[in-house]
Amino acid sequence: MDATTITVTGAGGQIGYALLFRIASGALLGPDRSVRLRLLEIPQGLRSAEGAALELQDCAFPLLQSVDITDDARTAFDGANLALLVGARPRTAGMERADLLAANAGIFGPQGAALNEVAASDIRVVVVGNPANTNALIAAASAPDIPGDRFAALTRLDHDRALAQLAQATDASVTDIRGIAIWGNHSATQFPDVDHATVAGRPAREVLAERLGGAEAAATWLDDEFVPRVAKRGAEIISVRGSSSAASAANAAISHLRDSVAGTDGTSAAVLSRGEYGVPEGLYSSFPVTSDGSGYRIVEGLDLDDRARSRIDASVAELVAERDAVRELGLL
Ligand code: NDP
Repeated sequence: MDATTITVTGAGGQIGYALLFRIASGALLGPDRSVRLRLLEIPQGLRSAEGAALELQDCAFPLLQSVDITDDARTAFDGANLALLVGARPRTAGMERADLLAANAGIFGPQGAALNEVAASDIRVVVVGNPANTNALIAAASAPDIPGDRFAALTRLDHDRALAQLAQATDASVTDIRGIAIWGNHSATQFPDVDHATVAGRPAREVLAERLGGAEAAATWLDDEFVPRVAKRGAEIISVRGSSSAASAANAAISHLRDSVAGTDGTSAAVLSRGEYGVPEGLYSSFPVTSDGSGYRIVEGLDLDDRARSRIDASVAELVAERDAVRELGLL
């Protein structure tokens, strides 16, 4: 069987360093599948990627067939089956949103075009670099021959954070919990939703009400603690650790692609909207999803109450504003 070609951009960065060794060890595609790694970096990042490649060699991973490092997107994506787009332009002090969007459009537009030209016909892409949803939109728009549902932005870390918080609050195991959903943008406006979640088969709200002293206390905990804790967890990690989350982000990116390929009965991902739940068609917004192995499908038919509706609408409005700003700059 041929090896799978996996391209990682920003491979010399923190998340890249946490990703590469796990991919090479089989955490993404399992113990029977060989991989070829392609590392894309900007010129300033090449030495760091080269250092990671030396360490990969020293691990003598049985599944790792080759590691190539380049600063050319066409070379990096040539024949790629899976791509993790991690490298992005971070927001720096004094930077306006339009500047951030423009700088990232300058990265994700050309990468989308290169994927369109040279990636394998079964390419699947996950965008990690922020603003991830809009970067996915730009990359997909620059790749007209690749179906839009092959692109996604990562909200799996938000999903896993929500799962862990609910497990802790209900004294349950994460494996007892089903039906958590992240809606909207991978930003502070996201809506982590437990309204359809169950804990050991019982509605999560019912279990929370029992533990916290009533339905009202459960509702207050959800609005005042759970939602902001999940949405602002990145900032909490920075303040405690002194740098942004890397291993957990890498773990989430691996879980996202693994479940897309291997199948899952429920997780969250920012995928192409075709108008589901009133999210404007063409946006990459987070939804509850499943996969049969052929890619993520949005779970349809969930009832949304007014609270959920207004939170989702607020996050989607932010996505619309990002898309419109990119359009106004002539980048979409
Ligand atoms: P990281 O590896 O820590 O982060 C990379 C990107 O992931 C950032 O945009 C970051 O967003 C984003 N991200 C998304 N979710 C999370 C999360 N939960 N926690 C943390 N980050 C998250 O950044 P480094 O600066 O260490 O590395 C970036 C590398 O990318 C550098 O080596 C740089 O040279 C390279 N780069 C490569 C490009 C390319 O290949 N063309 C283009 C631009 C950069 P946020 O900024 O919000 O933290």
